[in-house]
Amino acid sequence: MNTPATSVADYVSRAVGPIILFGPPGAGKGTQAKQIVERYGIPHLSTGDLLRENVKLGTALGQKAKAVMDSGKLVSDDLVNEMVAERLARPDCARGFILDGFPRTVGQAEWLDGFLSARGSKLPLRVLRIAVDQDKLFKRLTGRRTCPACGAIYNIYTNPPRVPDSCDKDGTSLTFRKDDSEEAIGTRLKAYENETLPLADYYRQRGILTEVDGDAAADDVSRQLFHALEKGEL
Ligand code: AMP
Ligand code: ZN
Repeated sequence: MNTPATSVADYVSRAVGPIILFGPPGAGKGTQAKQIVERYGIPHLSTGDLLRENVKLGTALGQKAKAVMDSGKLVSDDLVNEMVAERLARPDCARGFILDGFPRTVGQAEWLDGFLSARGSKLPLRVLRIAVDQDKLFKRLTGRRTCPACGAIYNIYTNPPRVPDSCDKDGTSLTFRKDDSEEAIGTRLKAYENETLPLADYYRQRGILTEVDGDAAADDVSRQLFHALEKGEL
């Protein structure tokens, strides 16, 4: 991706490779992943979304994961790794994919390294970190509302819908995630600090980490991410 693409078709035809979108809960990973998906036409793999889908469908995995997720703790590496392996094996991941919310522990990162080398990936792994001021995260998370119909993400403080509590696109009533309660948010931020943040060093040491300022407006953050991916900074 070192030479700039000249059209959407050009972007979409290029192999992009594996991308990790890394950052604390509430940094805007979901919102940014959607922009990357639109620009490059690669699939978005959010382990949080996949786990919530399993809970909704009542699968064996969903039953094991539900209570852990509601409390804000992390689901075990083995369960999550297996779910990711299954998803990455699908043909739509061949040109590249974006991982959102995975890896979340050093154990998961080591597993991913092994998985990618066993699969003989030629394109390098790239890690984009969205850094956000810790104090702002609490507000972002308590303000989050999502549309159960189309997946649009709003924030009552920073990105409110035009009509309160209703989706701009389809008018569906917006919902509040169970693990966006104040207690669970505290647990999630702690899990991030203790288990996920060490990954920044893990990838920085390998020279594959780019950090962008997540306190900027969403459009600016997207521009920074596209720039990092296209100017061969990684
Ligand atoms: P998220 O939507 O990324 O905030 O994830 C919601 C919840 O799903 C987390 O609080 C964890 O309980 C669980 N989860 C998501 N991704 C992972 C992961 N990679 N490892 C362990 N647990 C995860
Ligand atoms: Zn909607």
